[in-house]
Amino acid sequence: MRCEVVAVGTELLLGQIVDTNSSWIGEQLATVGIDSFFQTKVGDNHARIKEALELALSRADAVVVCGGLGPTQDDLTREVIADVMGVELVFDEAIADRIRAMFGRRGRDMPENNLRQALVPAGASAIAEQPGTAPGLVCPVGDKVIYAVPGVPWEMQQMVEGTILADLTRRAGVNAIIHSRVLRTWGSSESGLAELLAPEIDRLDRAAGVTLAFLASGIEGLKIRITVKADTEEEADRLLDEEDARVRQIIGDIVFGVDDDTMEASLLRELGSRGLTLGVAESLTGGLIAARIVDVPGASASFRGAVVSYASDVKFDLLGVPEGPVVSEAAAIAMAEGACRVLRTDCAVAATGVAGPDEQEGQRVGTVWLATVVDGEAEVQHMLLPFDRPRIRQFACISVLNMLRQRLIHRHPGSGG
Ligand code: ATP
Ligand code: MG
Repeated sequence: MRCEVVAVGTELLLGQIVDTNSSWIGEQLATVGIDSFFQTKVGDNHARIKEALELALSRADAVVVCGGLGPTQDDLTREVIADVMGVELVFDEAIADRIRAMFGRRGRDMPENNLRQALVPAGASAIAEQPGTAPGLVCPVGDKVIYAVPGVPWEMQQMVEGTILADLTRRAGVNAIIHSRVLRTWGSSESGLAELLAPEIDRLDRAAGVTLAFLASGIEGLKIRITVKADTEEEADRLLDEEDARVRQIIGDIVFGVDDDTMEASLLRELGSRGLTLGVAESLTGGLIAARIVDVPGASASFRGAVVSYASDVKFDLLGVPEGPVVSEAAAIAMAEGACRVLRTDCAVAATGVAGPDEQEGQRVGTVWLATVVDGEAEVQHMLLPFDRPRIRQFACISVLNMLRQRLIHRHPGSGG
C-alpha cells in the first residue's frame, strides 16, 4: 500500500507558509506502516494540480491532498478531483445542512459563497469529522482513492486521525490495532539517548510489533515515540505500558511526561501530590517561568507567586540578595531563598544569567545560574547555553523547572506519580 501527499497552495511555493502538513501526514503514514515515497507541492492552478494528482495516482494506491477546499474561486481542489474522476460536481444537501448549522451555532450569517463547499465530485463521500466549514472528502478513483482535506492544520489532523488512517489500513488489509505514546524527556542529548537505548532498539528490531523513534523538538525537549501493533486494543495497551516501563527503567527520571504533558504541568503534579507550594524569583527569564506555570489550569493549588527582580537593586532590596555580582552562584541561591521567604513557600526556583546580546559583569552570553530550594536546602546549577536570547530564556526556564521536579522525585519518593 502506497500513499502520496499533495499539498496545494501558491503560498507554499512562495515560501509564505511552510508545508508542515505534509511532514505531519508523512509521520502518521509511517507510524501505521503505509509506504509514502513522494510528496508534492503545487500552486493554485487547475492544470498543474491535475497533473500532480494524476502522477501521484499513477505511482500510488492512495493520495492525500491538502488545501484548496475553501469557499472561494481560487479553491480548486474539488473541481480538479471531479475532473480526475471524470465526473460532475453535484450539490450535496447533507453537507450544505452541516455548513448552515455550523454558521447557525456561531450566530453568524452564512455568505452564499460557503455553499460552494457543498459541491462535491459525484461518487465522493464526506469525511465524518468536520471541525471547520470545509468538508473533507473520500473520492474513489477506480480501485484507488483520493482523500481531500483542508489546509488548516488542526482541521486536517482531525480528519487524518479520525478517518483516513483507519481507511488506509483497512484498504491495505492490515487489521492490526496501532497505538502510540510519546515519552517526553529533558536533559539528555539525542545522541546520548540513542546510545542508552541502542540495545533496546536492537532487541525490538528482532521482535515484531513495537518500535521506538526519536523526535528532537527544540525547547519541547526530546520525544521518544513508542508505537505498537497488536490484534486487540487490550493487547496494544498492554504492549505500550510494558515498553513505556522498560524505557523509563533505562533512561530514568529524564522522562517528565507523556504525549501533550508540559514540564510545568508535570512539576505542578509533583508539587500537588506532596502538598508543597512554589515561589519563583526570575531575572533573565523576566516572568516567563511564572507565565508558563499559570498557563496550567489549577496552578493556584501550588503556585503562590513570582518576583521578577530584573534590576540588581531589586534583587538586593526585595529578595535580600547580598550586594555583589548578580550573575553568580551566590545570587541564584539567595534569589531562591528570598523567594521562599518573601512568598512564604515550601519550594522555590530562581534563574539569573546573561540572555544577551551583550555581555554582563564580564560574563559570556548564555551564562546561566539556576537554583532550587526544597526543605530549606538550596541546590544550584551552572549552564553555558550556546543559543540566542529567546532560546536562552526558554531553556533556562524549562531547565530550572526540571531541576526542581527531579529533586522532588528523589527527596520525596513514593507519594507522587
Ligand atoms: P479554508 O476553508 O480555510 O480556506 P482550505 O482547504 O482552502 O481551507 P487553504 O486556503 O489552502 O485551505 O489554507 C488555509 C490555511 O491553512 C493557510 O492559510 C495556512 O495557514 C494553512 N495551511 C495550508 N496549507 C498548509 C500546509 N501544507 N502546511 C501548513 N499549513 C497550511
Ligand atoms: Mg482557502
